Amino acid sequence: MKTSNSTLGEIVSLINKAEKLLVVGHIAPDGDSLGSSIAFARLLRQLGKETQVACLDRIPPRYEFLLRYAPLITEVGQLPREVDCLVVVDCGDLVRTGLPETYVTGLTVVNIDHHVSNRGTWGKSWVDEDSSATGQQILRLVEHAHWQVDGGTATCLYASLTADTGFFRHSNTTPALFRDAANLLEWGADARLVTEQALERKSLGELCLLRHALHTLTLHGGGRIALIMVSFDVARQCGVQADEVEDMVDYARAVPGVQVAILLKEMAPQITKVSLRAKGQIDVSGVAETLGGGGHRAAAGATLAYGIDAAREVVLERVLRVLGCD
Ligand code: 5GP
Ligand code: MN
Repeated sequence: MKTSNSTLGEIVSLINKAEKLLVVGHIAPDGDSLGSSIAFARLLRQLGKETQVACLDRIPPRYEFLLRYAPLITEVGQLPREVDCLVVVDCGDLVRTGLPETYVTGLTVVNIDHHVSNRGTWGKSWVDEDSSATGQQILRLVEHAHWQVDGGTATCLYASLTADTGFFRHSNTTPALFRDAANLLEWGADARLVTEQALERKSLGELCLLRHALHTLTLHGGGRIALIMVSFDVARQCGVQADEVEDMVDYARAVPGVQVAILLKEMAPQITKVSLRAKGQIDVSGVAETLGGGGHRAAAGATLAYGIDAAREVVLERVLRVLGCD
């Protein structure tokens, strides 16, 4: 399936022509979205371009350290009025940027992404599903255009690469990824800082959430599906957001025999975020798409306008069907 309408070279020449740019990733930001958007904004500034970077959603505490590398626009009211190019990174659809439709209308949009669910039908899209993280695509642009990567930018890109590969553990951990990571270290990436903040840091609230969440683990479909739930009430009791523990779904996936792990996080009384993880040949991006979301073959998600119990019924039914258990 063709998912790009532009090449890497076309993206570089569009960017070279632009003077005032805005870089944005996706809402519910992760380390790839934040790391690659901040890194790209820094590279553009280095080229002398007036560049801002925005994230119109809450920044998880584990990624707050990235803000030292570029100030972020966090409110719609702060968005620059005059922009001649909008660069959307790590984001499969425009709605997921969180930008108002009226803001985007009329702008030249460049989309750099690696999600399999991205059809590449909007803006000037370069979608590369073979990239483990959008940060790797930024590195391909760097090579093509001979841009320089300083220590701060290298740290942001290292955060991107580690976030989307589970710190070099997932099936998208390739030889090229290790080569890219090695280059980033040579260019001054602070790998220790990224590991300490993005991976090892666990607040008491997060540990409280984890303790409650593990109690909810159940198996379905003859042990092929594992489900963990975090209700809004439990998150409130622990004093954190339901999505505070990013890697909680890994506990469900860890159980031997499990092919699909599901994590349900009730963000608000009628809003439940779904995380899906697959082992082996199962593709969960299709399931996420039927729920209005998207993602990758082995890691996908969606947000449902349901309370957690109703969401559980819907998601379990879909996953059971994909596994042929119905
Ligand atoms: P997570 O489960 O860690 O939130 O997300 C896993 C993958 O699915 C990520 O690549 C993420 O961008 C994607 N994803 C999660 N939620 C959504 C969603 O609501 N819509 C889309 N298009 N992708 C999502
Ligand atoms: Mn990504």
